[in-house]
Amino acid sequence: MSTPLPPAFVQAFEQLLDEQLPEPLIRERGARLLADLVSHDDWLPDEFARPDPERYRQLALHRDPAGRFSVVSFVWGPGQATPIHDHTVWGLIGMLRGAEYSQGYRYTGPKELVPAGPPTLLQPGQVEAVSPAIGDIHRVHNAYDDRVSISIHVYGADIGAVKRSVYDAADGSSKPFVSGYSPLDS
Ligand code: FE
Repeated sequence: MSTPLPPAFVQAFEQLLDEQLPEPLIRERGARLLADLVSHDDWLPDEFARPDPERYRQLALHRDPAGRFSVVSFVWGPGQATPIHDHTVWGLIGMLRGAEYSQGYRYTGPKELVPAGPPTLLQPGQVEAVSPAIGDIHRVHNAYDDRVSISIHVYGADIGAVKRSVYDAADGSSKPFVSGYSPLDS
């Protein structure tokens, strides 16, 4: 099927990546494209906006044929949260609907995984970035206990297939993690 994203957004991202810029510039310019996308909440088809009562969903909106980037609809049911995880590639998170908290983590010793500053609250239209270059480990949760929240993520790889890690803050341990993508409702 064709992408549910506005074609102009996909084209703009393809052109940005064609320029082969240093990562900070990709994040900066990509954040502007994503902020523009999430400044309007009138384009996401309903099948990419439905929560699962059991766990948050990661629905693929676009996977670049060359694997240079992917775009995902993150649908949070009330109170749902991720484990502490990393990405290993740059990522941009744009809030479309509702709100979410992101708590960054950092290592202060081999077994000491501690919160890196206060959590960030992301509101509709706002964008934040993750990357090994600027802080890549975080835990995210729906800011609301009584409603769905949705954020649109862009990553510098086919993120569902990336070998990355989840972490346990109790002892600083990590485990291999491949997120995949959630199936669409049939
Ligand atoms: Fe994340």
